[in-house]
Amino acid sequence: MQIHLSNTLTRSVEAFTPVRDGIVQMYSCGPTVYNYAHIGNLRAFLLPDLLQRVLRVVGGYDVQWVMNITDIDDKTIRDSALGSKEWRTEIGEQSADAKQNLRRYTQFYTEEFVRDIEAIGIRKGGFYKMPFATDYIPSMQDLIRRIAEKGFAYERGGSVYFNVGAWRKVDTYGKLFNIDFENFQEGVRIDADEYERDSVSDFVMWKGQKDGEPAWDFEFEGKNLPGRPGWHIECSAMANEILSLPFDIHTGGVDLCFPHHEDEIAQSKAGYGVEPVKFWCHNEFLEVEGEKMSKSKGNFFTLRDLLQKGVDPVDVRWLMLSAHYGSRLNFTFSGLESGRKARHRVQEYLYDLWERSEGVIAPAARHESAQALRTAVFQELANDLQTPKALAELFTFLNRNPASGVDAAQAAALLGFFQELNGIFDVWQFSPRPAQTLDVPAEVQHLAEERWKAKRSKNFAESDRLRGEIAALGFVVKDTKDGFALEKA
Ligand SMILES: [Zn+2]
Repeated sequence: MQIHLSNTLTRSVEAFTPVRDGIVQMYSCGPTVYNYAHIGNLRAFLLPDLLQRVLRVVGGYDVQWVMNITDIDDKTIRDSALGSKEWRTEIGEQSADAKQNLRRYTQFYTEEFVRDIEAIGIRKGGFYKMPFATDYIPSMQDLIRRIAEKGFAYERGGSVYFNVGAWRKVDTYGKLFNIDFENFQEGVRIDADEYERDSVSDFVMWKGQKDGEPAWDFEFEGKNLPGRPGWHIECSAMANEILSLPFDIHTGGVDLCFPHHEDEIAQSKAGYGVEPVKFWCHNEFLEVEGEKMSKSKGNFFTLRDLLQKGVDPVDVRWLMLSAHYGSRLNFTFSGLESGRKARHRVQEYLYDLWERSEGVIAPAARHESAQALRTAVFQELANDLQTPKALAELFTFLNRNPASGVDAAQAAALLGFFQELNGIFDVWQFSPRPAQTLDVPAEVQHLAEERWKAKRSKNFAESDRLRGEIAALGFVVKDTKDGFALEKA
């Protein structure tokens, strides 16, 4: 099915066709691993997960999805430094080697991050690569040299900057985000660090070493400039090294449009001579209980904060997927609860279908109604990932087609469709309804056992009488292969 996506670069919804036949290359700005991810971060990783699944299931493409791990920046350096209060005992003993501390610290939070995203159904198997930035420093240095050769970089005090003024003379800067250069203020400056540079709009690509910081040697214009890469150069160099330019889709939170993504475009274009990305997709923010998430308001949550409150991570996935990625999501506890009910309603329907088909799952195309539902739901997903509309189609169908009126062949085809859809939503089970753990009163249990004995000794009249008594107490007794089971009437 043809996929359409909203492209920040053109500010329109466009038909998507990959650069290379049948395969989609996608890059997502990953986490900075200095702490646990909060739920706002998680939303930014759910967009590419949803997108890659829709591309595979609805579009029929193979996807190469890369998400970098930012393991070097001011915060990872600060918190991994010798004597840092943020260093946790689980990470082990600190060493005198700043690079070693950085790697151990960031490795710890990367593993925690992967655990968190897997809990909300972003599976490791969906990624092509999840590389550490510090493993790609030679590629970043190579890109900086290329940019300098073209005349768009300069060195000051051991750091190297991108010259935005020179670049603007030959190309646009501000494709994703309209920048008001005339009124460019310190308050909205491009890089809020304390390095020297010629113009406030210039941004740093290589940061000269400060005391005690981990550093890499860098041969630049005949000098060695020990230091570390800036954040923007990471993504430009890694995307080029792992994927090939131009690649299809770049994702990130809307807050990354400027300056991060704008700077990525300028660097890649200046250094590699290619407009690097065809589609830029950005997800909107997440608010909690109608307000911006902040520690001071007490509405700041990491995933593990929610788990401690007894929240099922699958409900977090469901709530986030049930809103369109391009609109603000108001994350509320009542929303989690009503989402949970909706998800369970579908699950109950699937258990009913399973009973009706006796566990047989067939392709949706085998039954007209399943095929029509598939087309309606997939069309909404293909239309810029309209998950709320897709779910609306689903619930309309459920309302009009109670499982009691579905025959075995239709049930099998519907299960086939739902299983396909679960390749995207990943929140349902395909199995017989699990035996419920019922609170059975001792009296009912006793009657059921007596009935079972009567039945085994072929005293059917007594067995029927006891069944009646059990029913009068609000329970149904059913025979199973090796005994009996009780259900609420
Ligand atoms: Zn990035």
